[in-house]
Amino acid sequence: MRVTEKAPAKLNLSLDTPMRYFDGSPRWDMVMTSADLADYVTVETHRRPATIKVYTNSGFLPNDQRNLAYQAAHILRNRFHCKEGVTINIKKNIPVAAGLGGGSSDAAAVLRALNSMWQLGLSKQELATIALTIDSDVPYCVYSQLAYVSGHGEKIELLPPQPHYWVVIAKQQISVSTPQILRQINYEKIDHLDNDQLLASLRAQNWQTATKYMGNVLEPVTMSFYPEIKRLKEKMVELGADVAQMSGTGPTVFAICHTESRAKRIQNSIRGFCRDVHVVTLL
Ligand code: ATP
Repeated sequence: MRVTEKAPAKLNLSLDTPMRYFDGSPRWDMVMTSADLADYVTVETHRRPATIKVYTNSGFLPNDQRNLAYQAAHILRNRFHCKEGVTINIKKNIPVAAGLGGGSSDAAAVLRALNSMWQLGLSKQELATIALTIDSDVPYCVYSQLAYVSGHGEKIELLPPQPHYWVVIAKQQISVSTPQILRQINYEKIDHLDNDQLLASLRAQNWQTATKYMGNVLEPVTMSFYPEIKRLKEKMVELGADVAQMSGTGPTVFAICHTESRAKRIQNSIRGFCRDVHVVTLL
């Protein structure tokens, strides 16, 4: 049996953290959405060999238990005592280690696929609970639709759909270590976002107002190491983006635009110093 799942990139419309838990991990307070830039994850089950195999079209990714898609299959197989082997083929389109949650989305795609192939009957909420044992963005990626995400990443409130906007997603050739950035957060110095206003606007489907309250409190941390991220963001604003900000811990910066022509103009203007640029719609 074989199923192909689309695994979209996530974007943080807002990212804030009010505190650290005792174990040192951040408590999240964020609004996430997904973009039509996606990996395609094909999952095949078979009686023999009863092993998990991962193949990708990217030379940079691990294909053993370090791959989040492998972990997803492993966890479901153990938890539900499934004896079948699983082969996962990932066609990567989402830039790796970019703050776009590519690995998390691949893992969530495997959870969705195996839930249906093995007829486990798990709700999205139940899948999200299992997903949290893999990584903090995986529960959101089970849904991959506009949502308020809090706690360790497991509390998810879906928000109503918004107008279909265009987004320019640009990743410079910089590698950001998520744990390194998270360790650098100084909670005394965070300039917190007004997520309540953002949520109220999104619940009222008032996207224009919502754009005023978007933001990412990790920008100053990542940008202090990589000032070129700040320059890219400023350039996008200069070129007329409605909003331009970093996703996750970076380095990707995205620009939201209400017309495709504006998005394409930004894409053409930044290509000179950033080659990995995509223009897609928000899902
Ligand atoms: P995070 O912020 O959660 O670290 P990210 O969105 O910045 O993630 P990913 O593309 O998910 O970036 O990759 C983060 C790390 O996860 C990389 O070091 C990569 O080797 C590892 N990884 C494991 N499985 C995958 C996968 N299927 N796709 C991409 N990266 C993966």
